[in-house]
Amino acid sequence: MNCDIPIEYDLHVHTSASDGTLSPEEVLRRAARVGLKGIAITDHDTVAGLKPAREFLASSALPVELVPGIELNTEAGASEVHILGYFIDDNNPTLLTRLKNIRESRRGRAREMIKKLCDLGFDISYDQVDSLAGGDLIGRPHIARALIEKGYVSSVKEAFQKYIGKGRPAFVPRYKFLPEEAIDLIRTSGGISFLAHPGLIAETKWIGQVIAYGINGLEVYYPEHHPDQVRGYLELAQKHELLVSGGSDFHGEGASEGRERLGYAGISQQIYCKIRSRLPGKEEK
Ligand code: AMP
Ligand code: FE
Ligand code: FE
Ligand code: ZN
Repeated sequence: MNCDIPIEYDLHVHTSASDGTLSPEEVLRRAARVGLKGIAITDHDTVAGLKPAREFLASSALPVELVPGIELNTEAGASEVHILGYFIDDNNPTLLTRLKNIRESRRGRAREMIKKLCDLGFDISYDQVDSLAGGDLIGRPHIARALIEKGYVSSVKEAFQKYIGKGRPAFVPRYKFLPEEAIDLIRTSGGISFLAHPGLIAETKWIGQVIAYGINGLEVYYPEHHPDQVRGYLELAQKHELLVSGGSDFHGEGASEGRERLGYAGISQQIYCKIRSRLPGKEEK
């Protein structure tokens, strides 16, 4: 949670290009409505939402700044480690090829999970999940929405707890992708890397490891971070001369744990300017 800073930029936002429920245009309109100066669109494993977002901004003249971003889901040991990239070049060929491979393997994984659910007696199909996904990325939240649509569960959370969360009967692990690979990929794409929601990492030793791998910053302000955690991560960032970020992890209506309020967490313009000044050619004066 935010402690004493104005929330002017929300740098962790999902759209319907990944597993958010609002389109890039709707997200930007909402950002203007709630008074944000800027947002980073950080869809999981896809940059497909960035072009429509830019085009909409160009034609609508909304006073909202767009940071082109991404969230890469990686695994370290038994932990999920999510890496955010800001100011990536979303036309970078290395980035686009890697993301395409990731999305293809996600499709294979979704087929396996749907097969497991069918074996458990549920009537859901790949086509149903694909059409709910609506874009080029399929994730577990789309499978959860299919289970809700058929009335098998009443929330995304329940779907994860009963069937598709890690260790549950229809779970299938994702492709292998390591945090250090994600950091390299973001650097190759001209972006700045941040460790997303460190407070959600099961084994805390990975926070130090990711810092050693050369991450540029920490997502300190996050809906599920306790004020003590915020203080601790601020100290850690200072110690290692890391940048500080924050965001709501907005996924739209029906998302769990505060992820349905755009601007619920974020950073001030002052902190945002420090991030911008780290960009090549934009050194602090
Ligand atoms: P995937 O990348 O397909 O494995 O799906 C992971 C995504 O599912 C995360 O990025 C979250 O958006 C969402 N998620 C993970 N765990 C939960 C949960 N317990 N309840 C609701 N959403 C979750
Ligand atoms: Fe998500
Ligand atoms: Fe995440
Ligand atoms: Zn996220």
